[in-house]
Amino acid sequence: MPYRVDEALCRGCAACVEACSQGAIAMQEDVAHILADLCIDCGACAEVCPAGAIQPAATPVTAGQGSGQWSVIPVTPVPPCGSAAS
Ligand code: SF4
Ligand code: SF4
Repeated sequence: MPYRVDEALCRGCAACVEACSQGAIAMQEDVAHILADLCIDCGACAEVCPAGAIQPAATPVTAGQGSGQWSVIPVTPVPPCGSAAS
């Protein structure tokens, strides 16, 4: 079960990106997104997040906690054809 980001709490600091040894977190429009197929559930991102925005996906969302909009991308995006340098 991968970790996930509460989009409403995320401050866009990218500390989690630096902490992730798997390259499993991508920033999109100043919000962190966890790539579920790369995440190994180590918890390093949650430990460094200053906003408490990252939790294991199995954790129930409680009232008053962000927006309830959780960011987890199930499959790593593949670059579009022709994007590689030739
Ligand atoms: S460490 Fe927390 S606040 Fe910073 S980008 Fe990651 S999820 Fe957002
Ligand atoms: S739990 Fe570990 S592997 Fe998964 S996104 Fe966070 S730091 Fe990366």
